[in-house]
Amino acid sequence: MMKSVVHYVRSLFMLELWKGLSVTGRYLFRKKFTLNYPEQKAPVSPRFRGLHAQRRYPNGEERCIACKLCEAVCPANAITIEAEPREDGSRRTTRYDIDLFKCIFCGFCEESCPVDAIVETRVYEYHFEDTDKAAGAHIMTKEKLLAMGDKYEAQIAADRAAQAKYR
Ligand code: SF4
Ligand code: SF4
Repeated sequence: MMKSVVHYVRSLFMLELWKGLSVTGRYLFRKKFTLNYPEQKAPVSPRFRGLHAQRRYPNGEERCIACKLCEAVCPANAITIEAEPREDGSRRTTRYDIDLFKCIFCGFCEESCPVDAIVETRVYEYHFEDTDKAAGAHIMTKEKLLAMGDKYEAQIAADRAAQAKYR
């Protein structure tokens, strides 16, 4: 009985509505959080998992040793690696593809890599104009990955150093 009376009074005076409007009123005069993207951008964490890159050592040699740990650990089966030994006996990939249609950006490939070769960058601004699978725009090939690494190495190295503090 008492419950029904309380409910009736709340409905009569539209208490829920006034409660909601009071929240609107409180936020009306507060500092706004809206950013005018893309002119303004939100800060990005050093642990952000964006587009992938393959890194090189300072002498220009690619880091990847074709151990295939990243391919084995990838839960989406997004990585395809082919490898063969070079003339000097070192083992390197001849093909390293990441299918971005399959990738779920979990970061497992990055975590599994023993030589810090495959990493995920802060880059999140990318798109595909050609979604035809045969065209292969969604495949990050070895060449594309190394080019990403070359372009963003300074940021990648700084982010890896920042991440190391939390390990
Ligand atoms: S981020 Fe995850 S899903 Fe994407 S390639 Fe790496 S391991 Fe696979
Ligand atoms: S990227 Fe790293 S984990 Fe993947 S094959 Fe190369 S060395 Fe191994």
